[in-house]
Amino acid sequence: MLFKELADYYDRLETVSSRLKMVDIMADLLSHVSKAEVAKVVYMTEGILAPPFEAVEFGVAEKMMQEAIAVATGHTKDEVASSYKHTGDMGLTAQAMCADSKLKRMSARKFSVLEVYDSMAEIARTSGPGSKDAKITTLANLIAAASPQESKYVARYPMGQLRLGLGDATIMEALSKAAIGSRELKDKLERAYNICSDLGAVAERLFIGGADAMDNFKVTLFKPIRPALAERLPTAEQIMERMGGECAVEQKYDGFRCQVHKDGNTVKIFSRRLEETTSMFPDIIRAVQAEVKAKRAIFEGEALAFNEATSEFFPFQETIRRKRKHSVEEKAEEMPLHLFAFDLMFLEGKDYLNEPYKERREMLESVLRGSKTILPSTRIITKSPKELEDFFERSIENGLEGVVAKDLKAPYVAGARKFSWIKMKRSYRGELSDTLDLVIVGYFLGRGSRAEFQFGGLLCAAYNKSRDMFETVSKIGTGFSEAQMASFRELLSKSRVDSKPARVDSLIKPDFWVEPEYVVTIRADEITKSPTHTCGRGRQPDGSEAGYALRFPRIVDGARSDKAPEDATTTREIIEMFEQQKRVGVEEA
Ligand code: AMP
Repeated sequence: MLFKELADYYDRLETVSSRLKMVDIMADLLSHVSKAEVAKVVYMTEGILAPPFEAVEFGVAEKMMQEAIAVATGHTKDEVASSYKHTGDMGLTAQAMCADSKLKRMSARKFSVLEVYDSMAEIARTSGPGSKDAKITTLANLIAAASPQESKYVARYPMGQLRLGLGDATIMEALSKAAIGSRELKDKLERAYNICSDLGAVAERLFIGGADAMDNFKVTLFKPIRPALAERLPTAEQIMERMGGECAVEQKYDGFRCQVHKDGNTVKIFSRRLEETTSMFPDIIRAVQAEVKAKRAIFEGEALAFNEATSEFFPFQETIRRKRKHSVEEKAEEMPLHLFAFDLMFLEGKDYLNEPYKERREMLESVLRGSKTILPSTRIITKSPKELEDFFERSIENGLEGVVAKDLKAPYVAGARKFSWIKMKRSYRGELSDTLDLVIVGYFLGRGSRAEFQFGGLLCAAYNKSRDMFETVSKIGTGFSEAQMASFRELLSKSRVDSKPARVDSLIKPDFWVEPEYVVTIRADEITKSPTHTCGRGRQPDGSEAGYALRFPRIVDGARSDKAPEDATTTREIIEMFEQQKRVGVEEA
């Protein structure tokens, strides 16, 4: 495929305001790419070069791109910088500078999609002394030979500014339509994606092996499995009922989720967001090499600091200090980390995802027998809600967050929140027992004394998985420090778009829309019904229309880097939390 054709599709994607049209355009695009191109086109459309766990960065700073545009078009660096200041979009700047190029344009050269991708991959690989100039030269050569329209995407892609607004679910739906003409393959594609976290690889396998290849998708060492997530219920009785009268109950540790992959002495760790975090945990890596009785395994646990002498768990904030990449080794001595392992997905060539929890746990315990740093999570198996409640109380007394109940017969549900894991956390009077992770879809300008910050609050949304849409649930205008206001303005002004993004459903019009990409954690007192929000919107008994909203929302922290927009709290979870609120709360702490 020519890059020009891809740019035409991207132009069309940019202007549509409906998700269904997006799926159609993307399906049309995919039906025109070859087996050799499909993985790369998927990565490009996602705005990346490789799946997140490979951590391939373009390494192109704004100034470098501006210089490349200047070299390619004969404009001065100041002219490019002032255009960028005006447009706030490197793509539009490249397009304008190219259209008004001061240099004699090379004869129109037609790039293929693969050529552009390969040049970008080369730019990412270039490092060390002199790499800055080399990157600028490669970019400038591309831009000099590109049409103004092509240069828009050549500039946006490495700057992370593509923002086509397609999520993984939309791409999978489009892949299904391109392959068989309907969305029927979507579930199979999703299953394959959940196992390998690499949408490009899934697309390539589909194009080469057809739908059957999706059925034979297997766990692969060093490709992280998308993590299973927990549902929530407020009481021991409800949990026991849902679990069918018997379940395991594990302590819930508040540390870093680690998915460990081991092949002989090669050990890698992946985070909840599937990024490789191996370098953060040298002591855990050594312990896996020395203590785990398996040649090849994939297992999962929570890493946190634990004082064996006092049986005391250090809170998350203490543990997080270790996160600083520097002095990781010193910290390892001062505050030894333990990994509390809670699941096993692969062992000596056998895929355990579909085996029941009971069996996975037995295998996990057998490979950890005698180990000191990597310990199986503490748990009980019970039929009694009273015993579950007592275990929960004891866990809280030990400084833990709560418990996670597990269905003894359930498989490992990769990438989904299902009732096979149910968490129960402590709640405080007048507060929801859990925080919510919401996606920023817009923001407001400050008024009155806040006007100087050019920031007055956020419009936030939950993720509706079945519609693959972001539905608004809260306007958050209080609780920001001055530093937070300044940093949100700085962050969000770069994600501003002119009109409502296609996957956002909102009745409120913020001062600025932003592409859904940042997740923030919000605490609130209560979930209420509201006519102004679209989250879970439906007809009420009195005939009016209402959705859900948050009462007294306040921000817990800045934007989080460990969650993607599709990892946000879902509409279904919000409705469940609303229903739970009406029932008895967990005992107050
Ligand atoms: P939350 O982040 O509140 O939705 O709770 C789910 C998280 O709890 C998981 O992502 C794990 O990182 C963590 N966790 C801690 N202990 C356990 C456990 N024993 N079993 C499963 N997940 C656990």
